[in-house]
Amino acid sequence: MQKETLATHAGYDSKFGHGSMAVPIYFSTAYDFGSAEVAADRFALRSLGQIYSRLTNPTVDVFEARMAALEDGAAGIATSSGQAAIFSAVVNLAGVGDNIIVAEQIYGGATTLLTHTIKRFGIKAKIFDSQNPSNLDGLIDENTKAIFFETLSNPQISVANVDEIVKIAQKYNVITIADNTVATPILYNPLKDGVDVVIHSASKYISGQGLSLGGVIISNKNLNSKLKSNPRYPHFNEPDESYHGLVYTDLIDNFDIYTLRLRLTVLRDIGVSISPFNAFQLIQGLETLSIRVEKHSQNALKVANFLKNHPKVKKVNYPGFDNRFVKDKFKDGLASGLLSFEVSDFESAKKIVNSTKIFSVVVNIGDSKSIITHPASTTHSQLNQDELDRVGINQGLIRLSVGLESADDLIADLEAALK
Ligand SMILES: *Cc1c(COP(=O)(O)O)cnc(C)c1O
Repeated sequence: MQKETLATHAGYDSKFGHGSMAVPIYFSTAYDFGSAEVAADRFALRSLGQIYSRLTNPTVDVFEARMAALEDGAAGIATSSGQAAIFSAVVNLAGVGDNIIVAEQIYGGATTLLTHTIKRFGIKAKIFDSQNPSNLDGLIDENTKAIFFETLSNPQISVANVDEIVKIAQKYNVITIADNTVATPILYNPLKDGVDVVIHSASKYISGQGLSLGGVIISNKNLNSKLKSNPRYPHFNEPDESYHGLVYTDLIDNFDIYTLRLRLTVLRDIGVSISPFNAFQLIQGLETLSIRVEKHSQNALKVANFLKNHPKVKKVNYPGFDNRFVKDKFKDGLASGLLSFEVSDFESAKKIVNSTKIFSVVVNIGDSKSIITHPASTTHSQLNQDELDRVGINQGLIRLSVGLESADDLIADLEAALK
């Protein structure tokens, strides 16, 4: 089925919701087993069913199944935010003494999480350039458990060299995790190019109107065979003491074990579960995602073309112009609503940000309303100058999340602010 159909139907059968066309919100913390035997069977995974909403919930199930269908993956796990998705995806693979390899071009929150906070959990990060991953080979050692990158990066809007990253990772049997938030599953599917795990901040385009936080993790259909007998991931191949000696790889015929372990241990113990209300709102967002992303992308291309020809603009970063990978692999060469541009310095950038009337000064992306951000003073202000240089964020860089308003009005707004 095509994505537009999956986005409106996958994972829900109205016969299980009293015929309700809208996916019902199941606001319940826990579920009645009816008998001790049923309860025991559910805990032992002999029968599947709801136990407690920290683990599963019927509304959340629909969101997870729909996202897995849209990314053409094996299974999905929803989390309370995108940050929670990144943390969970990584700690499902890595522990004390391990390392992960992280792209330098990633979201500011992901940088602080993966290079600072996670270090205190005993997991070290090494940095690579996702556009030119030539040094990735030399960074992988026996304790490397994951390679993390963004397909379209926020805020540089650089395009990862997915094919090269996957090729190198496969040589060493290391799992790759791609953050596909900016591209959305409508424009691009990393799993089809051999990426092992995809994560999203659903708070952005999927929510669509800046309403709800949420995240999601989706595994590749071939991840079971990659984990089986892979010496990098003994905790999938040896008894899990925290789950009565369960060996995940014994279950590969019936379960996707990467997401199973994530649910049975990370969600169970860390509790970064999503609210059924937020899952409901994200399902509404998915129903219109394809038409919104097309319009965001068309508007952004018009705005990018205007900026490219403006004398005060030094550079425009928008992969919708001429990026080969986007042209070949992204739906109709569309490149999302995100773009960034550089003006001469910090003060000029601030003045432009303060002068726009339709663009709101907000640190978010993917809203139907247009947004303008000055990363050096906000999202990336916790990074030092070295880190800023490394991630390619210049003091005069301005990021736009182009919304669903009229492109003509947005261009007029920027034209006046650039005067
Ligand atoms: C916003 C964002 C995140 C973090 O997601 P939250 O839902 O805000 O926690 C992660 N990655 C990217 C690319 C983002 O834009």
